[in-house]
Amino acid sequence: MKTVLVVDDSAMMRKIVIKNLKDCGFDIQVAEAADGKEGLARFSAGGIDLVISDWNMPNMDGLTMVKEIRKVDPERKVGIIMVTTEGSADRVKEAIVAGANNYLAKPFTPERFKEKLSKFLAT
Ligand SMILES: [Mg+2]
Repeated sequence: MKTVLVVDDSAMMRKIVIKNLKDCGFDIQVAEAADGKEGLARFSAGGIDLVISDWNMPNMDGLTMVKEIRKVDPERKVGIIMVTTEGSADRVKEAIVAGANNYLAKPFTPERFKEKLSKFLAT
């Protein structure tokens, strides 16, 4: 069973992401963090297989967290997906350069969500 870390300062958004994960039927367990700092700490504690993260958060934003995670995981073994309203090519590119594997634009449909997540979580 894989463990997915959901990082978002909005509890409602975390709930939506987790509901979508469960609705997809992936065999996973979920960990949550409310900002990048908390997310990095949870990631560093170990056992995380995939990170789904918001971009704009207090204390540490998603982009900074991605950079910090890749210092801990330079071989990029763990997948990172950014959930963002920042649809511009530049910001997406910045996230990919920083070490994110993919991005999911808000708002997303269950179909879009499943399509993006399947390559990381389908067994
Ligand atoms: Mg946010």
